[in-house]
Amino acid sequence: MTRSRRRQQRGGTASTRLLKTYVARHWRALAGAAASTVALTAAELAAPWPLKLAIDQLIGGRGARFELTAPDYALLLGLGALVLLIALVDALATFYSSFWLNRAGERIVHELRVATYAHLQRLSLAFHASRPKGDLVARVTGDVNAVGDLFAQTIGTLASAGLILLGMFTVTFLIDPFLAFVAFLVTPLLFATTLHYQRRIKLMARQQRAREGEIASMATEALSAMHVVKAFGTESFEQDRVQSRSAERLVAGVEVSRVEARFSALVDVLGSAATALVLGLGVLSVAGGRISPGDLVVVVAYTNRLYRPLRDIAKQASRAARAFARLDRIAEVLASDVMLHDRPSSGPSPARSGGRVQLVDVTFRYVPDRAVLDGVTLSVEPGSQLAIVGESGAGKSTVGALVARFYDPTAGSILLDGRDARDMPLSWVRDQVGVLLQDTILFSGTVLDNIAYGSPMDLDAVEEAARAAGAFPFISQLPDGFHTVLGPGGLGLSGGQRQRIGIARVLMRNPPILVLDEPTTGLDADSEAKVMVGLSRLAEGRTTILITHSIALARTADRVAVLADGRVIEHDVPEVLLDQDSVFRRLSRVQAQPAGITGGAASIRAPRRPLSRLAERS
Ligand code: ATP
Repeated sequence: MTRSRRRQQRGGTASTRLLKTYVARHWRALAGAAASTVALTAAELAAPWPLKLAIDQLIGGRGARFELTAPDYALLLGLGALVLLIALVDALATFYSSFWLNRAGERIVHELRVATYAHLQRLSLAFHASRPKGDLVARVTGDVNAVGDLFAQTIGTLASAGLILLGMFTVTFLIDPFLAFVAFLVTPLLFATTLHYQRRIKLMARQQRAREGEIASMATEALSAMHVVKAFGTESFEQDRVQSRSAERLVAGVEVSRVEARFSALVDVLGSAATALVLGLGVLSVAGGRISPGDLVVVVAYTNRLYRPLRDIAKQASRAARAFARLDRIAEVLASDVMLHDRPSSGPSPARSGGRVQLVDVTFRYVPDRAVLDGVTLSVEPGSQLAIVGESGAGKSTVGALVARFYDPTAGSILLDGRDARDMPLSWVRDQVGVLLQDTILFSGTVLDNIAYGSPMDLDAVEEAARAAGAFPFISQLPDGFHTVLGPGGLGLSGGQRQRIGIARVLMRNPPILVLDEPTTGLDADSEAKVMVGLSRLAEGRTTILITHSIALARTADRVAVLADGRVIEHDVPEVLLDQDSVFRRLSRVQAQPAGITGGAASIRAPRRPLSRLAERS
């Protein structure tokens, strides 16, 4: 069995389980809808009966002209009332079954969306790094809605169509078994074809949805990196990529429509053939005295209507197939278990960390066959600063990600205050380690929201953090100060300003341990100087792991670790390394070259100042 087939099957059973959960949770609404559906079926079955009774009791066998007696009038009145009653039951049952089903559908959409989104939040970076965003968004939005429709429309229609078919068969059978047999001759045939096509439609719908997910991913990526697209002039390339996926989606969509249309046509033809047969044979039955003319009216009316529920079943079955394809996609996300778990041994949250960080023989692999870190051992004393330098791809950011517990090491361990980080509650670790990346991501909302992100909202504390981060002056010049609404991704602010907001955000959390991942890279000298003011305040008294390409910045740390190919090749006080024939010294020399387009303005002879005093540079 292929892996994709196995995954499909796993998705299939998971989606059935998921469906059962929601059916069980909303059984009251579904039971109410089922009761209404039974009433609706009764009304549908009763619809031709007033006419049958009128023909058999009032009209039949009385010749061309006849007088109505008093009991006839009473019966006529009764029949009129019956017609009204049937219509009333029909209307009420339709209302309640549709309302209850729709309400259950809406609630299920809400619960499923919340559950899926919450699960996506819990899934680790390893999961998110391997999944296109747009596809996940499509699952949380479109796919979830389709599952709601399954409840709101498909299940009700299928149940009522099935019941009506059964009822029609029973009544027709009681009237004339032979006619019932003829009228329902087509049904097994249709069920067999429905099942056959349902499978095909589900498969095509899955492909269709996969293409839609790809389109959403590509569009999300390209639209959120529009400046790269413009810079490289790749508008038509991006357009072509989406166009070709859309064309594939079109082919799948047309194929689904073709199969569905074929279904409808087949059902219509078979339904008419059955009606013609029943009419002919029915008249023979009336002539033979086996059934009354009224009975024939009922049977023909049923046969005439027979194809409506059958068509409903065919149509809804393909809808259900599509909804199940989408449910599979949701179930697949919900079944993903790529997350960091608290070990059962994690006790209650300890107090604030003292700030000692140790990496003990840490090996880490993003993918099984390549160790990005290989036996890394490092130790950072409380309140001290460790700079990690090395060539691009050496594994520096990975060290930071492991300390922040974005990932767990493949082998070895990360110790905080001497205890394995995996033995501590994940939320505690996140509270202890503040992370500042090269580019601070801001969310849509006000400056205030962005600084208080993840911390209790307190305007005074936010202002204080902004002052310490050196962000206060520019924030107060914004049109609405702290209440200025930022565009998506912090649009309207410079890189340095975003970074200072990022520093204020970390300050709000007041973590004892910091991971600063190239916090000033990409900034001009002026912005860098301003960001340094904030960084120096941030680093005060905190254990700081500073990942940087800037040797000048690295020299401000208490110790420097040089990484190469995932191994620590040097680890010492910066001055000691500079006095030796070390890689750090060589890197230092390279950066001390006169600044050309490749940059590198820091001098080897630049005096060493602690990070907390670097602000003085500005
Ligand atoms: P830079 O200075 O360029 O930021 P770095 O030293 O910080 O580089 P890392 O980002 O830690 O290096 O990456 C180390 C190696 O791990 C690189 O070869 C990179 O290709 C690989 N890597 C990083 N992230 C992932 C990921 N999510 N999946 C697979 N491989 C990854």
